Amino acid sequence: MENIRTRFAPSPTGSLHIGGARTALFAWAFARRYGGKFVLRIEDTDIERSTQASVDAILDSMRWLGLDYDEGPYYQSARIVRYREVIQRLLDKGKAYYCYASKSELEALRETQRAKGLKPRYDGRWRDSKAAPPADVDPVVRFKNPLAGEVVFDDLIKGRIAVDNQELDDLIIARADGTPTYNFCVVVDDYDMNITHVIRGDDHVNNTPRQINILTALGASIPRYAHVPMILGGDGERLSKRHGAVSVMQYRDEGYLPQALLNYLARLGWAHGDAEIFSIAQFVDWFGLAAINNSPARFDPGKLLWVNQQHVRAMNDSELAELVAPLMEQDGIELAPQPVLSDVIALLKERSQTLQQLARSASWFYRAPQPVEEMRREYLTKDIKPSIMALREKLGTTEWNREAISKALKSVASEHDLKFPELAMPLRAIVAGQTQTPAIDATLHVLGKQSVLNRIDAQLQHFPA
Ligand code: GLU
Repeated sequence: MENIRTRFAPSPTGSLHIGGARTALFAWAFARRYGGKFVLRIEDTDIERSTQASVDAILDSMRWLGLDYDEGPYYQSARIVRYREVIQRLLDKGKAYYCYASKSELEALRETQRAKGLKPRYDGRWRDSKAAPPADVDPVVRFKNPLAGEVVFDDLIKGRIAVDNQELDDLIIARADGTPTYNFCVVVDDYDMNITHVIRGDDHVNNTPRQINILTALGASIPRYAHVPMILGGDGERLSKRHGAVSVMQYRDEGYLPQALLNYLARLGWAHGDAEIFSIAQFVDWFGLAAINNSPARFDPGKLLWVNQQHVRAMNDSELAELVAPLMEQDGIELAPQPVLSDVIALLKERSQTLQQLARSASWFYRAPQPVEEMRREYLTKDIKPSIMALREKLGTTEWNREAISKALKSVASEHDLKFPELAMPLRAIVAGQTQTPAIDATLHVLGKQSVLNRIDAQLQHFPA
């Protein structure tokens, strides 16, 4: 393929959402797949709604996801001079013109059209007008859209799209105050940045015919377009905050792995056979626009959680430990050299869906638990006390490996005529403050001899006499 150049062009009016991240992923993966370039462009011409905080959130999210760009970020706000220059060029070539129609005039026009049951559109009254411009109106600049023929493009996802030029009126490209309009900036940018493939949300598909006409007027070559269908919530409505977490950063904060979020987003409306869990490198290798589904995708948080769990399981223990440690510290847990966090992780990761869950379930390894009253009443009873004391003795002299610990537990249980769980449950309550733990021998082993003995000693004092 030619030198592929794709771009992601977010408007910084909020954080990066799931939908934007998926569009970015597709544009990035397409460039990576074909050895092209991926450009980041911040579309911040709407100064009222654009904020630096949003720009930062977008850049942070891209960094966290690992969607690296080869060029940019370019800021539209820094390119106003260039847009004005192109507007002037179109005016000079007679491909754009000043329109002096006042607001009230345009309103009246719309009213008549509506009354006739017509679609409201500008009627081109200043297009070829020789009338003297009114002195009291600051003109807008309009693009001279072709009057006849159709705009046809082969969308790489949606297939052929044809729009009659008669459907399109003369787009305003500069406002009365001289500022360029959104659709125009996009065109100049895609042109200047030599974008070969415009991969974006299909909420922009209606802008495309107008953008193609302007590109043609500029003598630019027309990029290929791929409009990605939107993401719906479980209720079939367009995905929004109402559906819960939608911002990328929220998923980071809730303990999702970036590779899991990308894996899930990749699968949302795209498939490679029945592959569900894959690395991003694998995805790039498989990726093509043709396999993107042409109908809206449905966001399923439960499935995302499952995908995350698969990636947590697949990750190695020490890498996970590095990610989990700061989360535990944030929760006020003081990590110690013993037990080794990656050993704790190895025990817990099978049952954890997120890093946060992992951090939470690892906490009692570092902070002696306080069994709740109910648990004491049920498990830390007068009757069991002699067995726990005997176990304390035995563990004190046991060699500290899993087999030896297991043997010690079994022998105390049988000496005291207990079924194994009758001993293991109170022991879990003592060392973990809960009755759900990984295998008790492995748990004690990782916790370390001294901690186990200390925890038993501390609880023995609370047993009823
Ligand atoms: N700035 C637009 C948005 O955030 C994207 C425009 C485009 O990709 O052409 O929706």
